[in-house]
Amino acid sequence: MTRTNWSDNVTYTAERVVAPTSLDQLSVLVASGGGRKALGTRHCFHDIADTPGGVQVRVDDLGFDVEVDHEAMTAVVPAGWSYGRVARALEAEGVALHNLGSLPHISVAGATATGTHGSGDTNRMLAAAIVGIELVTAAGDVRTFGADHPDLPALATGLGAFGVITRLTLAVEPSYRVWQEMWFSPSWDELFADFDAVMAGAYSVNLHVGFSEPRPRLIWRKCRVGVDDADPPASIAGARLVEPADIPPNENRTEIGTVGPWCDRLAHFRLDGVPSVGGDELQSEWFVAREHAVDAIEALRAMGERLAPHLYGSEIRTVAADDLWLSPAHGLDCLSIGLTWRKHPEEVAALQAPIEAALEPFSPRAHWGKLFALDADVLRSRYERYDDFVELVHRYDPDGRFANPFLRRLGVW
Ligand SMILES: Cc1cc2nc3c(=O)[nH]c(=O)nc-3n(C[C@H](O)[C@H](O)[C@H](O)COP(=O)(O)OP(=O)(O)OC[C@H]3O[C@@H](n4cnc5c(N)ncnc54)[C@H](O)[C@@H]3O)c2cc1C
Repeated sequence: MTRTNWSDNVTYTAERVVAPTSLDQLSVLVASGGGRKALGTRHCFHDIADTPGGVQVRVDDLGFDVEVDHEAMTAVVPAGWSYGRVARALEAEGVALHNLGSLPHISVAGATATGTHGSGDTNRMLAAAIVGIELVTAAGDVRTFGADHPDLPALATGLGAFGVITRLTLAVEPSYRVWQEMWFSPSWDELFADFDAVMAGAYSVNLHVGFSEPRPRLIWRKCRVGVDDADPPASIAGARLVEPADIPPNENRTEIGTVGPWCDRLAHFRLDGVPSVGGDELQSEWFVAREHAVDAIEALRAMGERLAPHLYGSEIRTVAADDLWLSPAHGLDCLSIGLTWRKHPEEVAALQAPIEAALEPFSPRAHWGKLFALDADVLRSRYERYDDFVELVHRYDPDGRFANPFLRRLGVW
C-alpha cells in the first residue's frame, strides 16, 4: 500500500507502520534495530516523519488517557492524540490550553515537535506548555523528564530526533470562553499605520492577505471573555466589523459571532470538518522579529505578482518569545507569515529561495513542518542553541536510529 503525508505530496519510504499497544511493545520495537521514526497525523509537508526502509511508529494505540492534576494545573496527555481530542477531554475537566493551531486534527507530539503555534501577542508556541515528557529512547528505555530537567527545552521541539514521545504533561488553566469576529480592512496603509495595535487588539489575531491584492482580506479576531472588551471597538485601523449573517457559511469553520468554549473557537477549523483546502495544497511559513513585521510583509508584497499564480493566500500571526532551543520563537517575539500554496510542487519549490532572499534582511526562521529552503549553515546561525541541540541528539541516539534525510539536510546528522 502506498502511504503518503496528509497533503499527498510526500510518499513515505518507510517499510511499514506499527502501532504498539503497550509501552513494553514499543520499547522492544524501538530497540530492535533499524531506522525508527515516530509518526503523528502526517500533516507535515516534507519528509520529516519518514525513515527510508525503517519503521514508522504510531503512539495513539497505547491505551493512555488524559489525566488532569487540578492542584498542579497540569494534564498528562497521550502524545499521539489529536489536539481536538485532547482539548475535548480537558474541557470536560474544566481546564484549557493557552492556545491551539488553526486545525485541531494534528497530533500533540507531532505539532509540538515542529514548533506549531496559533496567534496572539502574549501566546507562545504550543510546545511552550510542555512541563513534562515521557520518551522511549533509542535504547528502548522509557525516560521521564520534568519541568526542571535541563534537556526539556530541547526535547519539547525535538523534530522527532530524540526518540518516541508517549505522553506529554501540559500546563493548563481554568477553562475560558471565546468569540470570533471578522473585520474587513479597507487598505494596506491604514493597516500598517496601526499594525501593532491591530495585532495586540484581541487575545488572538490572525490576518489573512493576498500579497498582490489591493487591500488585506480579513482581520480574524479570537476574543477571550474576561480579557477582551465585550463591545467591539468602533473601528480597527479603518476596518469594518462583518455581521455574522454576512459571512459566507462554511461547515468546516468554527463558529463566528457566538461565545463558546475555547476548544470550539481557538482553532479555525472544526474537528469534524475538513481543514484548509482539504490537502490540495502545500504550505510554507517564516518567522521574523516583530520589529520587522511591516517591512517583511512589504517585501512579500513586492513579489506579489510572482507569487499570485501559485498562492491561495497568506496568514499572518504573532507568537510570543520562548526558550525552547529550536522553537522559531526562541528568544524572539515574532511575526509568522504562513503561505498556503496551490499544489504546484515545482513552482512552489522554486519560490522558496527567492522568498527567503527577500526576507533575508530580517533573518527569517522557517516552520519545521512546512516547506523551506534555508540550509543547515543558515539555520545554525539563526539559533544560538543549534549546536547544543545537535550534540544532545547524538548523546540520546548515538547510532542514528531516528536519523533521516530531513535531519541530514539540517546537519543534525
Ligand atoms: C492544513 C494544515 C494547517 C496547519 N496549520 C498550522 C498552524 O495553524 N500553525 C502551525 O504552526 N502549523 C500548522 N500546520 C503545520 C502542522 O502543525 C505541523 O506540520 C505538525 O507537525 C503536524 O503534526 P503531525 O502530528 O501531523 O506531525 P507528523 O507530520 O506526523 O510528524 C512531524 C514530526 O513530529 C515527530 N513526531 C510525531 N509524533 C511524535 C512522537 N510521538 N514522538 C516524537 N516525535 C514525534 C515526527 O517524527 C516528525 O519528526 C498546519 C498543517 C496543515 C496540513
